[in-house]
Formats: sequence, structure tokens, C-alpha cells
Amino acid sequence: MPKAELHLHIEGTLEPSLAFALAERNGVVLPFATEEELRAAYSFTDLQSFLDLYYALMAVLRTEDDFADLADAYLARARRQGVRHAEIFFDPQAHTARGVPVGTVVDGLTRALDAAPRRHGITTRLIMCFLRDEGPEAALATFESARPYLDRIAAVGLDSAEVGHPPAAFREVYRRAREAGLKCVAHAGEEGPPAYVWEALDVLGVDRVDHGVRSMEDPELVARLAADQVPLTVCPLSNLRLRVVDRLADHPLPAMLEAGLLVTVNSDDPAYFGGYVDDNFTAVRDALGLDAETLRTLARNSFRASFLDEETRARYLAEVDAHRD
Ligand SMILES: [Zn+2]
Repeated sequence: MPKAELHLHIEGTLEPSLAFALAERNGVVLPFATEEELRAAYSFTDLQSFLDLYYALMAVLRTEDDFADLADAYLARARRQGVRHAEIFFDPQAHTARGVPVGTVVDGLTRALDAAPRRHGITTRLIMCFLRDEGPEAALATFESARPYLDRIAAVGLDSAEVGHPPAAFREVYRRAREAGLKCVAHAGEEGPPAYVWEALDVLGVDRVDHGVRSMEDPELVARLAADQVPLTVCPLSNLRLRVVDRLADHPLPAMLEAGLLVTVNSDDPAYFGGYVDDNFTAVRDALGLDAETLRTLARNSFRASFLDEETRARYLAEVDAHRD
């Protein structure tokens, strides 16, 4: 099924094999002797324990080539999963904190993204995320340092440890992003409460909410999201792995669809969470008993919720309608 992926952290596509290859290329010593030992470390208990490993492994990403290779490896896999359009997050602060300039990151990623239509038949957008646990001042400094590259960036986002870091603190950087003509998204309502989703909507003015599954605890919020058709980028295998839900069969995805929400299915950090986007589609189909028409709705939603121009969006929607299993 042709689909768009709208919630994908490029750093979260770093597979153990590529991590070891880049470590060797850059002379970085990883705290794991083998790929098997590294894979065994992927038994997270919550968001923070995942983030600790995630940031540790980023040490292997140093040069423009590293970022280009990382993005190209994702795009090749994504194509095999039916992805026709990808809107890709990156975290400049995770790299600038290690002395890698933001220009190196953007140049490497856009080299792979620019080649993607030809090499993989995938169109792309790039979304620059702020690490919320680093605070609003750091986000502002990051935004200003990235100004020379904004013509290659479609939107800003907000990610990393959610609880204790409400969206409202980032009002000013989102105002500047909108002023610069960028779209806005934010992670909210993953581990954080529905109040964070309200803030993302009303204080940051986001065009899309990333995750948002806890919105279901607040009927007034559900009504608002449905009325405005605010897209939600849901990540089922991520929710399972980080214990947002105990079992995939308990996932609120069917209830969200039933409530008329514009829900999409995405992979978040697929190298760490046990599956790329089509693996997520298959997992929810099997665990939640979604029928073929519901899966087609999810695929249609992914293009409806994208930042594509109308002509390209219509072309992709026609591909979904024409698709037969
Ligand atoms: Zn995410």
C-alpha cells in the first residue's frame, strides 16, 4: 500500500550494523563489543531508558557523509515498506552538543533527500526538532543558528522527554518559525497529559500533533481535534515498546478512528522499536483486527496530513485508491 511517513526521527533509524560501520569509519569506540550485545541493550522500560541509549549511539554520527548514509539507508528501507513520501525529523541539538555543526547535519541529510526521488522514488520534507528537555532558550539559539538553512526545512517540531516540559514554554521559537514561513508540529500527549495537547494547539499553533494518544482521556479535546481535523501521527510499536500501552490489542487507534480523528500510522524510531512503517501497519492489523478498508483510510490519511502541495497529494491519493493487494 502506498503511504506517507510523517513521524520518523532519522537518528532513530540507526541500525546496529550501520552504527558499528560508522564507529569504525570514525574511530569511535562503542560501549558494546558486538552487534548482538548492542541489540540486547534495546530492552527499554520507558522513554528515558530509550533516550539514554539513543543519545549514546549518536556518537558515531560525525561527518556529512555519515548523515547522508544514514538517511539513504532509511529511504531504501522505507521504499520497500511502501513509503512514497517521508517527512523526516532531525535533532540538531543532539549533534551540535557533540561539536557537529548544524550545517554538516543539514548538508548530509539533504544530499540524500535531494537524491531520493531519483534513487528511491520518494519525495521528502525535513523537519527540525527542538529537544524540549534542553529548554526554550536553547531552542531559540538552535533556531537562529539554523537560519541559513531554513530554505531546506519545511517545519519545526518538539521532541525528547515530554513529562515536565510542557509546550507553552516554547511559544517564542514557534512564533519565529511561523514568521519564517515554516509549518509547526510538536510531540504531545504521548506520556504527557491532554493539557499538553491543548497547549500545542492553542499556544504553539501546531499544524499536526505527534502521538497525541492521551488526547482520548479528554472528550472536549477529542471533539476539538475532530472538528478541526488536526492530524495525529500515531506510532503503535513505539507506544508498545515504551509502555504507553501494555498490549497492542489495548491501543486506542480504533477508538481514535471511531471518534473521527485524522489519524496516521508511523514508525517513530524504527531501528529501536522493532519495526518500520509497514511493520506497524501489519502489527495493528493483526492485533486490532483492522480490515482492508480501514488500512486504506490510514494510508489516505497519511497523504491528507502531509505538507505536500495539492497536486502531488492528489497524485498519491489516486495511487492509494488504485492499489489492489
Ligand atoms: Zn517521536
